[in-house]
Amino acid sequence: MIQPIVLYGDPVLRVKCKPVTTVTDDVHKLVRDMLDTMHEAKGVGLAAPQVGVPIQLAVIDVSHDLECVSYVRVDGADVILTDIMPLIFLNPKLEPGKDKEIGEEGCLSIPDYRDKVKRSAGVKVTYETLDGKTQTIEADGLLARALQHEIDHLHGILFIDRLSAVAKVGMKRKIKRLMEEWEEDGLIKKK
Ligand code: ZN
Repeated sequence: MIQPIVLYGDPVLRVKCKPVTTVTDDVHKLVRDMLDTMHEAKGVGLAAPQVGVPIQLAVIDVSHDLECVSYVRVDGADVILTDIMPLIFLNPKLEPGKDKEIGEEGCLSIPDYRDKVKRSAGVKVTYETLDGKTQTIEADGLLARALQHEIDHLHGILFIDRLSAVAKVGMKRKIKRLMEEWEEDGLIKKK
């Protein structure tokens, strides 16, 4: 079932999310809802706090672009991108690679805003699956960027927090204007 996506300004986006200790039926249902919501919104990733649930769970689907990575490994073995999509991960631990790369990002919680963010070009992430297995994934490209973006969400961090000081000035102005539009459209409550 498609869920409403929490927009910027809601305090749930700033919470440090709790680890998932037991994968209950509610967690399975939440995952299904998150996948429906992400696909409907044409996003490449969605974190549980974005549907109002502050737990360490996120989903990613970058299978629309098979060229978006140059490698993907699960537990050290090369895999085919589409075979592991959508990726559903719990309690992730990020090991960012040393090389950095600038790329454009957006966020379903800040619609109509995109900006350039410097992130690690490659990452290794250790996470738990819905079956309770611990796995590692290594990737570069859009998948590495999406993993970092979603893991940030689980720590209450948004991509706009990672802009340069100069870019932040313009960002704040633009987001203020966007929030006024959301108010007018009834998407968020007036302060
Ligand atoms: Zn986001």
